[in-house]
Amino acid sequence: MSSTTNQAIGPRVLVVDDNPANVDLLSRRLERDGYSVVSLTNALTLEDDVARILPDVILLDWMMPERSGVEALRGIRKTHDSNRLPVIMVTARGEGDSVSEAIEAGANDYVTKPIDFAVLRSRLNGVLVRRLGVLEADTINEQLEARVAERTAELQLANSRMREEFAERIKAEDRANRQARIDALTNLPNRLHFMERLKMLTSRSGGDFEPFALIQVNIDRFRAINSVHGSDTGDAVLREVATRIRNAVLDCDLLARTAADEFSIILPISARIGPDAAQAIRNDLSIPVCVNGRKLAISCSIGVSRSGPPPCDADAILLECDSALSQAKLDGGGQMYCFDERLATSIREHAAIKRELAEGIPKGEIIPFFQPTVNFATGEVTSAEVLARWQHPRRGMVGPIDFIPAAEETGLVDDLFWAMLPTACAEAIRVSPSARIAVNLSPSQILDQWFPDKVLQCLTKAGLPPGRLEIEMTETALFSDIAATKLALQSLHSQGVCIALDDFGVGYSSLALIRELPISKVKIDRSFVAGIVNDASASALVKGMIDFCDALGLETTAEGIEEAAVAHRLAEWGCTYGQGYWLGRPAPQFILQAPWGDQLSRKVA
Ligand code: C2E
Ligand code: CA
Ligand code: CA
Repeated sequence: MSSTTNQAIGPRVLVVDDNPANVDLLSRRLERDGYSVVSLTNALTLEDDVARILPDVILLDWMMPERSGVEALRGIRKTHDSNRLPVIMVTARGEGDSVSEAIEAGANDYVTKPIDFAVLRSRLNGVLVRRLGVLEADTINEQLEARVAERTAELQLANSRMREEFAERIKAEDRANRQARIDALTNLPNRLHFMERLKMLTSRSGGDFEPFALIQVNIDRFRAINSVHGSDTGDAVLREVATRIRNAVLDCDLLARTAADEFSIILPISARIGPDAAQAIRNDLSIPVCVNGRKLAISCSIGVSRSGPPPCDADAILLECDSALSQAKLDGGGQMYCFDERLATSIREHAAIKRELAEGIPKGEIIPFFQPTVNFATGEVTSAEVLARWQHPRRGMVGPIDFIPAAEETGLVDDLFWAMLPTACAEAIRVSPSARIAVNLSPSQILDQWFPDKVLQCLTKAGLPPGRLEIEMTETALFSDIAATKLALQSLHSQGVCIALDDFGVGYSSLALIRELPISKVKIDRSFVAGIVNDASASALVKGMIDFCDALGLETTAEGIEEAAVAHRLAEWGCTYGQGYWLGRPAPQFILQAPWGDQLSRKVA
């Protein structure tokens, strides 16, 4: 085997021919055409030679003694396809079958000996152009594959980043979700969390359903704690209450802070009966709370309801618990109520009262009754308190205790007031040129900024001078919005209307505030008055109140006088006015005659 190479830079042709003369001739002709030629005189190790020489095209002689061209071709085609390494077979004329055999074995083309160079050039050109096309396509494919690989890598990276971001976002959302369900002050679940849990429990059915009790705990007068001692103290109270409830119901399903001063507990009935747990909470909360070395007495109102058998409704259970809690609040706080049939009836009744009241007021069913007030110094009736009565077409005469709370809840108490005032004024004018009437005011009414104007308009229309009107307000009513109340009372006072503080002693009196407001009369609550004859402490208390008011230049009215001895004692102590069944019961007319007038004036004299 021999091989020669030269330095030309054209396509590299490997010429394989056993005849050196042929090789020589072919090489020279091809080199003249610009090809780079490598030659071999046998094809014994053609596969290895190709790997070393890396030809662009092979001219392969068909007939060679050691190894035939077609055999060598088959060897090459095992590793090199015809598109990338074209092989042109060189056959002798007359070797007709050899052409088809060669094509089958993987030859791209053939030329016959003696070689016609024009034909060879065109064949070479043909196979090389096709090869070039294939190689270019290969390059493009390779580039494309590289781009695809690059893009794939980029996408994989972007994907993994996205996955990381996604995981991070889920974590953040998780955190936000958790925070949105926690009350920051007490670290307890909040209302949102509570509602989700309640809905989840009520949506269970069959064997999955577990009956539970719902307990709501509301701290009584929490607003007062906040406004008197400051919100830091309020916060400390809430935290302490949360801890106490948690310790009292360790076996609960969920304890949540569901409103500013309200906690809700879901308790599996299998763990404990609702009222027992509620009682434990109530006991624990009756112990004063210590804040900054100061002891604060607290109390709470509690409502309890139970889930029925499934299917049950979260809103209904909540409403029942709310109703029980409202009832506990209405009864003055510190109470615990379980929702039951009796409570359901009273709630239905209350709703009926509200409905019927809305219809009854415009029909004139609310009428004023008059209860006389007697001046202890003269024994004369100087005024009458106007007390609402409902002439109900079906229920008969209904007292205010049974409908004023409903009127207050629905806002009808104002309508009721304006419905009665003209009649009351007319009655006062009818009975006397000077006697006064005293009207009761609900807390919400004084907050209406037009209230003083409306009163004066009504008085003018009725022809009653403002000096003949008294307005009675309880301490609770005064304190709901001190600034607005003060403004309204000053306006009324400057017109000559007398302002009296009702039910004195039962509420949260702030003596400083009483001095600040234009109050000229104090009505001592009847719960203190009844006991003054037999009970030394009640007696000391009432006498103290009279002296105290006297020192401040305030007149006093004692309410609830049911016997002569009480009236005489009060007159002795210098109480200004008296009111009570012994002096005169509420009646549909303003009655001026006082049959006991003589007794009183004799005693005073
Ligand atoms: P109040 O303002 O403390 O009225 C006095 C209540 O004590 C009246 O009850 C009166 O009938 C009752 N009373 C008077 N003397 C005696 C007595 O010697 N012994 C006893 N045991 N009770 C006596 P009434 O008429 O049932 O009114 C209850 C409450 O309803 C009133 O308490 C007042 O807060 C409210 N109220 C009455 N009328 C109105 C009104 O027109 N508007 C508003 N907002 N509240 C009203
Ligand atoms: Ca009153
Ligand atoms: Ca009263």
